[in-house]
Amino acid sequence: MKHELILEGLNCANCAAKIEKKLIDTPEYSDVRFSFATKELSLNCDKRNIVTDVQAIVDSIEDGVTVKESDDAEEQEEETDKVKIVLLCLSAVLFIAAFILHFREGAALPCAILSVISAVLSGYEVVIEGVKSVLKLRIDETTLMTVAVVAAMVLGEFVEAAAVTVLFGIGELLEDKAVEKSRRDIRKLADIRPDTAFRVENGGTVEVPAKEIPIGTLLEIPPHTRVPLDGEIIEGSTTVDASSLTGESVPVDVTVGSELLSGMMNNDRTVRMKTTKLYADSAATRIVRLVEESAKNKGAGEKMISRFARIYTPVVIFIGVLIAVIPSLMTGEWTLWIHRALVCLVASCPCSIVISVPLAYFAGIGAASKAGVLIKGGRFVEVLAKATCFAFDKTGTLTDHHISVKEIKSCSDYSSKEILQLALSVEAHSAHPIAAAIRDYVQAHHISEIELKDHTEISGHGVSASDGAHTYSVTKAKGVSATAVTRDDEVIGLIEISEQPRREAKSVLAELKALGVKKLIMLSGDKACACQAVAERIGVTELHSELLPEDKVKCVESLIGQNGSCCFVGDGINDAPVLSRSDCGIAMGLGSDAAIESADMVLSAENLSALPKALRICRRTVNTVRGNIAFSLAVKVLVITLAAFGIAPLWLAVVADTGVCLLCVLNSVRLIRQKH
Ligand code: AMP
Repeated sequence: MKHELILEGLNCANCAAKIEKKLIDTPEYSDVRFSFATKELSLNCDKRNIVTDVQAIVDSIEDGVTVKESDDAEEQEEETDKVKIVLLCLSAVLFIAAFILHFREGAALPCAILSVISAVLSGYEVVIEGVKSVLKLRIDETTLMTVAVVAAMVLGEFVEAAAVTVLFGIGELLEDKAVEKSRRDIRKLADIRPDTAFRVENGGTVEVPAKEIPIGTLLEIPPHTRVPLDGEIIEGSTTVDASSLTGESVPVDVTVGSELLSGMMNNDRTVRMKTTKLYADSAATRIVRLVEESAKNKGAGEKMISRFARIYTPVVIFIGVLIAVIPSLMTGEWTLWIHRALVCLVASCPCSIVISVPLAYFAGIGAASKAGVLIKGGRFVEVLAKATCFAFDKTGTLTDHHISVKEIKSCSDYSSKEILQLALSVEAHSAHPIAAAIRDYVQAHHISEIELKDHTEISGHGVSASDGAHTYSVTKAKGVSATAVTRDDEVIGLIEISEQPRREAKSVLAELKALGVKKLIMLSGDKACACQAVAERIGVTELHSELLPEDKVKCVESLIGQNGSCCFVGDGINDAPVLSRSDCGIAMGLGSDAAIESADMVLSAENLSALPKALRICRRTVNTVRGNIAFSLAVKVLVITLAAFGIAPLWLAVVADTGVCLLCVLNSVRLIRQKH
């Protein structure tokens, strides 16, 4: 049984990793997945109610995190926010009053009292958390703040202590809001599956849960609703918007016989469809699953951050202690140096990096899925961002998937019609585009299949079958560009195939070149002359023809070792080995399960146009991550230097810390809103 929970209040990436590990190590739970960016935890467990069990595990690692069923988490969160805002406003007013009194002579006592009340109201939660962390021998940003506030009070700097807690409180609140907003945006992307469907029954309709609908059910799709399951229209016509699946916003006309995919929006009129897939296998579920699973493949940047958080804070505390102790021993000015050390501690808080980096990857993956590219994790965002080489399969990838039969020639006493009939029957079980082209052609010529047996398909070669007396094949043959139909290895006819490059292929390759991609390679199992004809029209930089699937793997392997990374783009038929071998395997379309399994990215629109977009998004994501890290570190180094020389006050350190964090979070979230 699958459970979806929200871990509310979990803002520490390091603790998140520990919680996830502990849950994975618990034998009762399987398929444990936690996304730090959306706070969503999903796992499988036989028990019905697991909230208390998970809460106990979470509590043993991090306090202040509430485990909730994903449905009721949002409302409660808003309530707690309201209380926080009221307390913060009150303490801000008290702080301003104390600040004014601070400059009046003889008002030291009321000033101190107001400051302490303000600090308690705005900072009690942080201090409680900080003390708990210290008791658990753990050092995080709450520990840093607690040390700073308590020390400021001990030094008699009451106004400064209040400044720290109020500013930290405001910063945290804004930060939480920004993170929450982006999480909601990201979650919205996954919200493309309706939970219910209208089943046609006794002339009317009944609303039923989409999960329970078997294949072959008749459903009604009212206008302005989403298609709940994959199926085929059997009554009516309308236009649909598939943008949530493919990123392509041009509405498509559909009518009886057209395929509908779950997640498509019905724009115009009511249609009826027969389902062809279960909810769990429908397009929208596959997309959602891909995006969810992307959290598993963390990028090197993300992994580095978890390690960084573990060692960074203790190191900073150690430096703080050195700043407090060594100069004090030399000069005897303990108050001055402890104060400066506190400023350094507060300024060095790593939240901006720890929060914004995973968020940037997630926002990038979200932006890509909006553009019709599903990326299976931050790791592949990094790989695509530095891609310098793209290898493409020819048929169905650089050329239109719908290739057509141009001509049938007989080289024997078989008539063209008989040759076509044999080809059709031999190809009966093949999913190859040539098989599809033959089937299309046959439809117009009213030819029926004949009974054959022992159908076999050899990837990259062709197909064969037997009628008991002879073995027939449809395959490539030496010396001709056409596909040959053979009887016992003797060519009895030729099928001339016409193949058009995809409409967008030329411009996409030009765009990739303009983006700095050096090698655009065509890999094909087809004859050299057929490849040449396509290559010249679209502008690839290199061409390898007559390759078997294992040759394609070798070719890609030879490209992997070179500078940058090498991506392979294929339509999935026969391509699974190359897709998984390349640095980043990109599958065209959601059609083939094997391709989706072995690919690292999927172009869901089955169209190349999304490729340059994906490249831009991934580069922007990586740049955002780098920018956030550089900016945070630069500000920290600056403030720490100023603090060491006694120029930066404590409140400036808090503003620098929370301000930088907020800017970094907003910078990450920008990725999801930008036009790419
Ligand atoms: P592929 O790498 O799958 O494009 O296959 C390379 C070449 O093998 C094609 O260009 C065809 O000439 C031949 N071939 C592969 N599969 C088939 C098939 N099912 N029917 C006819 N020819 C095929």
